This record gives sequence, structure tokens and C-alpha cells, in this order.
Amino acid sequence: MSKNVLVLTEIKDGKLRNVSLEALTVARQVAQGGAVSAAIFGSTAPHFVGEVSQYGPEKVYVVEDEALDVYTMDGYTQALTQLIEEIEADIVLMGHTSIGKDVTPRVAARLDAGLVSDCTAVSIEDGTVIFTRPIYAGKAFQDKVFNQGKIFATIRANNFVISVKDVQSEIISYNPVIKDLRTVIKDIVRKTAGGVDLSEAKVIVSGGRGVKSGEGFKTLQELAEILGGAVGASRGACDAGFCDYSMQIGQTGKVVTPDLYIACGISGAIQHLAGMSNSKIIVAINKDPEAPIFQIADYGIVGDLFEVVPLLTEEFKKILTTV
Ligand code: FAD
Repeated sequence: MSKNVLVLTEIKDGKLRNVSLEALTVARQVAQGGAVSAAIFGSTAPHFVGEVSQYGPEKVYVVEDEALDVYTMDGYTQALTQLIEEIEADIVLMGHTSIGKDVTPRVAARLDAGLVSDCTAVSIEDGTVIFTRPIYAGKAFQDKVFNQGKIFATIRANNFVISVKDVQSEIISYNPVIKDLRTVIKDIVRKTAGGVDLSEAKVIVSGGRGVKSGEGFKTLQELAEILGGAVGASRGACDAGFCDYSMQIGQTGKVVTPDLYIACGISGAIQHLAGMSNSKIIVAINKDPEAPIFQIADYGIVGDLFEVVPLLTEEFKKILTTV
């Protein structure tokens, strides 16, 4: 049965987030021939229309309101709710980002609809959309279907292949009524500047307590840089003060699904695995051959990370700078 699908795209640091492009690809699948629309919020929205159109929406709603330049729960909730009602969307998709996690449950509750969060796969059976999501910290997967009402879903980054479908999208300017904002954002201070976004990185070099110091993390940074990846950490490393908690991966940190996860000096506690066990390829470097991380690693290197990581960096440098 064809569905009217809306994707709320996200712009971060002046760039369209990859997970929004994944959501647009999923939207075409779940629409089953129905209409796919995209929404872009904020005064820079017009700059992104061309890029968004490459991913197949028939309509792009440009919500060029200054009140949406930075995320506020009130502003986004009002704008998204009104847009969904206006276009009578059946399915609303967003990335499982901080904003997606915050705004979708609020809007779903307002519209008396259901939400399935953190989807890692989507399939269709006899016209019914099946959303798959991890449960028990990634140990099992659960299928969710909706029998009635609107459907809200957030999708986990790096789990869907982005496909281009360049269309002549209809551009529609939409002006929701945004009022009574209870939050005023005066300034945004980032803990980490620049670099690759951990939650969307294709390669992550992650360090644990075995890295021993903040200085030790520079060794990992060099490997990450040559691979075009980001540096992550275990809670052990964060608790020890080697790095910032914004780098923490795991049950109480970020959940990541890179193509390559290199765990250096991380033992492999269940709480850490909850954040990275769905990575496509896992490489573990640990001097203890009995470390639990080896049980889920595709490739294991038993050795001192301070010897192994520089060797890897050197070899990757040779390969990647000569091709
Ligand atoms: P350790 O367990 O101390 O392991 C260090 C490893 O480094 C060892 O395996 C050692 O052999 C190896 N090593 C040491 N030196 C070297 C060297 N030179 N070369 C190579 N290997 C070396 N943890 C998370 O990571 N993320 C979470 O989100 C998280 N949430 C939690 C939530 C709760 C409620 C609780 C109770 C715990 C949580 N934890 C989380 C903590 C988790 O249980 C572990 O304590 C933590 O993951 C351990 O970090 P680690 O592997 O870096 O340290």
C-alpha cells in the first residue's frame, strides 16, 4: 500500500548529515510508490535544496525560519507537527541523532502515533513495513509493525546504503507558526572541534584504559587520520581522564556502526560492545590473548598497542599515499 513519507533532514556544521540521505533512501523503499517529501529547517535551507533533490523526494519543503536555525525542542516540535498535519504524512523518518531522538517522540505523542527508534533495517512484507531494531544492548533484534495510525521512525547511521535518484523536486516554501519558545540558545560551545563526526564515521580507531594517557591517544589519532576516520574511546579511558566523554562509545555513550572499528587496549566489556558490536569489521589490538574483545573481533592482534598501532599507521601511509 503506497504511503506518503516525510523525511526531516538535518544540517550539521553547514553540511547535510549523511544519515538524512540514508533516511531519504529508506523513504523511497517504504513509500511503496507513494510520495516522498523532504523538509529542510532553518534560514540556510534554500542552499541545500539541490543536494536533497538528488536523493529522490518529489517535494522539498523549505522552512526558512530563523527560529529553526538552531535546534530547540519547542521550535522543531511545532514546525514538524504542523508540516506533518498539512501534508498528511503517513510515515515520518529522521536520523537517530540527538535531534531525532528528542523531537520524534514529542511529535509522535502529540499526533497520537507510534514511534520505532534506532532502526537498523527495514523490509516490506505484503505491503506492511517492518522496522528492525536492536534490543538488549545489541544482543537481539526485534521486528516492529504498525497496524494503524501514523508511523514515526528514527534510523541508525551507517546502516542503509545511500542511493541517488536525481529528480526534479517541487520546491515548496512552508511557514509554520512558531511561538512561545521556552528556550533561548545564546551560544553553542562544542567540546570537540573539527574532525570526523564519530556517529557517522566509516572508520573508528578507539582506545581504552590500555592507552594509558591522553598523550597515548595521539598515537591513535595518527592512525585515524591516515584512514580518514574518527577516534573513539571506552568509558574506562574517559573515566581515567585520557579523553572527553563525547568520545565514549557504548551503552551509556555513542552507538556506532562503522565499516571498520579498531579497538586498541579495550578489554571488551558488555557495556562497550553495546555501542560497537554491529560494526562491519572489528579489529582488536590487546596484549592479553584472553581479552573478551577477541571473541567478537574479525581480526585480532595480540601485542602492545604502542608497537602495533605505529606499524599499522606506517603501512597504511605507504599504501594510501601511493594509490
Ligand atoms: P579495561 O577493562 O581496564 O581494559 C584495558 C585493556 O587494555 C585490557 O584488556 C588490557 O589487556 C589492555 N592493555 C593494557 N595495556 C595494553 C597495551 N600496551 N597494549 C595493548 N593492550 C593493552 N564502558 C564503555 O566502554 N562504554 C560504556 O558506554 C559503558 N557504560 C557503562 C554503563 C554502566 C552502567 C556500567 C556499570 C559500566 C559501563 N562501562 C562502559 C564500563 C565497562 O564496564 C568497562 O569498565 C569499560 O568498558 C572498561 O574499559 P577498558 O576496556 O578501556 O578498560
